[in-house]
Amino acid sequence: MKTYPAPLVPGPVTVPEEIRAAYAIDFGSSDLEEDFFSLYGEVQKKLQNLLETDETVVIQSGEAMGALWGALKSVLAPQSRVLAVAAGLFGRGFADMARALGHDVEVVAFGNDEIPEPEKVIERIKAYGPHLVTAVHCETPSGTLARLDGIGDAAREVGALFCVDFVSSGGGAPLSVDGEAIDVGLLGSQKVLSLPPDLAVTTVSDRAWKAIGKAGYVGYDALAPWKEVPACRALPYTHNWQALEALRRSLEAIEREGKEAAFERHRSVAAHCRKRLQEMGIALHPRRERFSSPTVTAARIPDRWTWAELDRKCRDEGVVFGGSYGDLAGKVFRIGHMGSQARLDLVDRGIDALARVLGR
Ligand SMILES: *Cc1c(COP(=O)(O)O)cnc(C)c1O
Repeated sequence: MKTYPAPLVPGPVTVPEEIRAAYAIDFGSSDLEEDFFSLYGEVQKKLQNLLETDETVVIQSGEAMGALWGALKSVLAPQSRVLAVAAGLFGRGFADMARALGHDVEVVAFGNDEIPEPEKVIERIKAYGPHLVTAVHCETPSGTLARLDGIGDAAREVGALFCVDFVSSGGGAPLSVDGEAIDVGLLGSQKVLSLPPDLAVTTVSDRAWKAIGKAGYVGYDALAPWKEVPACRALPYTHNWQALEALRRSLEAIEREGKEAAFERHRSVAAHCRKRLQEMGIALHPRRERFSSPTVTAARIPDRWTWAELDRKCRDEGVVFGGSYGDLAGKVFRIGHMGSQARLDLVDRGIDALARVLGR
């Protein structure tokens, strides 16, 4: 099996030794043991602190996409109106998913080198009167970080729920779930939290629980059975105890470092990464640096290079970057510096290798 000396893909990220070790523990059956429920409660509390919310935090087995599907299916009654704020692939993805589920969807679209303009979004919320507004905090394929200013409050004013995918920014960029009036917040384990892709985290507000009760969705990814966990001492299926212990360790590491210090580490590593790319004459994507995410840097693939060739040569030099998707496929490559990969030495090693490949 091949290992990569400098893994710099924007998730799944490198899993640190201490977190990997949790998967070697032989726990008992999660739904029978008191220890499991107290661990669940402890991890919930740590997530509430990290994400700045007093609302329920649900931790499901699965992966981030499970949280996205589970949220849409759980909160939406048949034929609801969904306003999807989209400045990239995941924003448009929400629209596609909601349409596939039979809902009426309107998209407020922005370019993939832009971030959503809250004023425009708020205007559409008032005009359309949606049941749900979806948005993406970090558009990972574009390397951008959105400002959510006032969108949640505007949604609340028209009685809509506000759902935000912060899968690739949660824990790596400042975000207050309650401060931004987020009813349904979505996070996965394989990005900043640096676990394997095996947990889906969802913050659920009281308003969202009411909608969930009304919609009555039943299924493996349904949020409803999690409302009273851990107090009810019952689970809808056998949970991934090892992963939950791994998540506890990851959150404890962030607490030891200090959450503000962790944000600052991401911010400074990202700034350093952008500076080095620019010094090599590589154009950033987005061009406006104030739109850049602290967790992932996207840049234009240099002229006369294809992504396939650049990727192959970089791998030969012992570094793996990410390509991109959709409109950006073949045009943009990405350096993932989130969680365990938000390290200056690692980013420097990656960019040194890139410099050798490009002869710059
Ligand atoms: C990674 C990610 C997801 C989950 O996607 P996977 O392809 O399953 O990893 C969802 N939303 C965003 C913004 C992401 O970066």
